[in-house]
Amino acid sequence: MLKYIMSEDAEIISAKRAGFCFGVKRAVNMAFEAAKRGNTVHTLGPIIHNPQVVEKLKEVGVYPLDNLDSPHIETIIIRTHGVSKDVSDKLKKKGYNVIDATCPFVKKAQQYAKLLKDEGYQVIIVGDIEHPEVNGLMSYAGKDVIVINKNSYLPPLKKKVGIIVQTTQPVDVFKKIVSEVVGRVKELKVFNTICNSTDLRLKETKNMAKKVDTMIIVGGKNSANTTQLAELCRSINVTTYHIETADEIDDDLILKGKKIGISAGASTPDWIISEVENKIKNIKKGNM
Ligand code: SF4
Repeated sequence: MLKYIMSEDAEIISAKRAGFCFGVKRAVNMAFEAAKRGNTVHTLGPIIHNPQVVEKLKEVGVYPLDNLDSPHIETIIIRTHGVSKDVSDKLKKKGYNVIDATCPFVKKAQQYAKLLKDEGYQVIIVGDIEHPEVNGLMSYAGKDVIVINKNSYLPPLKKKVGIIVQTTQPVDVFKKIVSEVVGRVKELKVFNTICNSTDLRLKETKNMAKKVDTMIIVGGKNSANTTQLAELCRSINVTTYHIETADEIDDDLILKGKKIGISAGASTPDWIISEVENKIKNIKKGNM
């Protein structure tokens, strides 16, 4: 039995900022363009955390790669998170045709990391040490670099400290860590390298979740920013489903109430969001 208990006059609202951000759109376009030129194209890891887009790219000849030493590499695309300095040097040395799709905002954060290191600051990166973007940033930040997240304690610091932040970190975490550091050092330089796109999407989704009865968050289950959106909605007690595609709108999913909100992570393409919107609209019309 289906459990769509939407009222007949239910309103379906989609977030304006749902889906691809500027950096992801740019990287995915670069990958499709590279494929058109006919070379064998590889991306260093999946270009974005969305299995459906990765599959579509495979269909046109763009394959994710884990290992730089694989044979048959001609063209290689660096994804939005960027890579470490070592990897970048290795790519150049191997003579591959490199397409650098590192998001310009991530590039800026890498430049600030290097600038702080060159000016003699101990660099603190606010972020998740496991994240590839942070891995890349660390390689520019010098040997004294420290990575701090919301759950870690500050270790002893040098007198002169510079702070940057992973582009997708929440601004509150960044502010908290900056305020903890400020009283502990003689000289502090801070670059806010948070990308607006994430913050604005989080705010819009949060406001929407407060006004609706059910939230649908669309995007890869392996996408950190999509999962973050779903967790944010759950934290304000609205019934929330995190789905990858419209196919997951099935018997187990209860669309209840007068208002259904739809939002999506930065790696979710427009066509998947449209399919979800259309399926829900059809359910409302009784066509399912
Ligand atoms: S979230 Fe921001 S920093 Fe990350 S890829 Fe998108 S635009 Fe670039």
